[in-house]
Amino acid sequence: MRLFFDPRQLEHDPGQELHNGAWTAHSELPGRTRAILEAIGSTETPQDRGEGPLLRVHPPSYLAFLKTAHADWQAAGRPGNAIGYTWPVARRRPLNLSRIDAKLGQYSYDAATPIASGTWSAAYWGAQTALAAVDASLAAENSTFALCRPPGHHCGADYLGGYCYLNNAAIAAEAAIAAGKRRVAILDVDYHHGNGTQDIFYDRGDILFVSIHADPATDYPFYWGHGDETGEGAGEGFTLNLPLPQGTGLSAYRPALATALDRIAAFGADLLIVSYGADTFVGDPISHFALETADYALIARDIASLRLPTVVVMEGGYAVDALGANVAAFLSGF
Ligand SMILES: [Zn+2]
Repeated sequence: MRLFFDPRQLEHDPGQELHNGAWTAHSELPGRTRAILEAIGSTETPQDRGEGPLLRVHPPSYLAFLKTAHADWQAAGRPGNAIGYTWPVARRRPLNLSRIDAKLGQYSYDAATPIASGTWSAAYWGAQTALAAVDASLAAENSTFALCRPPGHHCGADYLGGYCYLNNAAIAAEAAIAAGKRRVAILDVDYHHGNGTQDIFYDRGDILFVSIHADPATDYPFYWGHGDETGEGAGEGFTLNLPLPQGTGLSAYRPALATALDRIAAFGADLLIVSYGADTFVGDPISHFALETADYALIARDIASLRLPTVVVMEGGYAVDALGANVAAFLSGF
């Protein structure tokens, strides 16, 4: 299995996040990636494929915002990292505002996702890592791992959130379509619903989105990931959400996984992208499932039984001491 990673992804280090009403140590820290690297061994550095593949998912205005947000924040005389404080949810209308606070509100949906000096570079090389992995999978018809950081699945076409700035799985899926694949399935097995990925492909019939996650009635991102969200227009029936209650262990997880895999098999995918989050682990500090390290090998083997070329894209997972072992166990299933 070829493994891809770019060290520039470590440049993203916001330090703090606003959590439960206080500034706390940021959960999505560079040490996560170092723990994974120690466990999986040597990786390949991606080539630079430029911004073209990113623009298949994200509009130029959003990329321009991301690139300069931290500098704009500093130019406004602000300390620390760029973060929004007002969001245009009520009676929003399209305005071309230049104030950094207005742009942060326009292009984000939560206050947990600060933009630091190294954020753009890290996110850019995370996306390039996903692109290198999908190209390698397409060329050899086998499975690859993209060690992406920051994660991507909460990021929509033109908004950041949930520690995510560019949607790596979506960028990989669009690259596969551009390379001639006709049907791409995305299986999201992070603890949290992949609301950004769902949103990007909600009206698409050529990209299936299937997600197993904590019930949004109790867990972030709350507003998305409910069972009755099934897609719209040409995408009707091409979104499948399988929410599970807090406390879910392997015995309840596996039947949901079987349902997900049946749907992917029926879809007739010619490439599978797995958004893998290890925050389903029993010891995760911000999540509430009960999977064990050994369970990840079983889950991955179930997924591999589809016998599809598969790109595993790293999403969340915050129990840093166990993260390397959890990722290694998951990859062993392929
Ligand atoms: Zn997560």
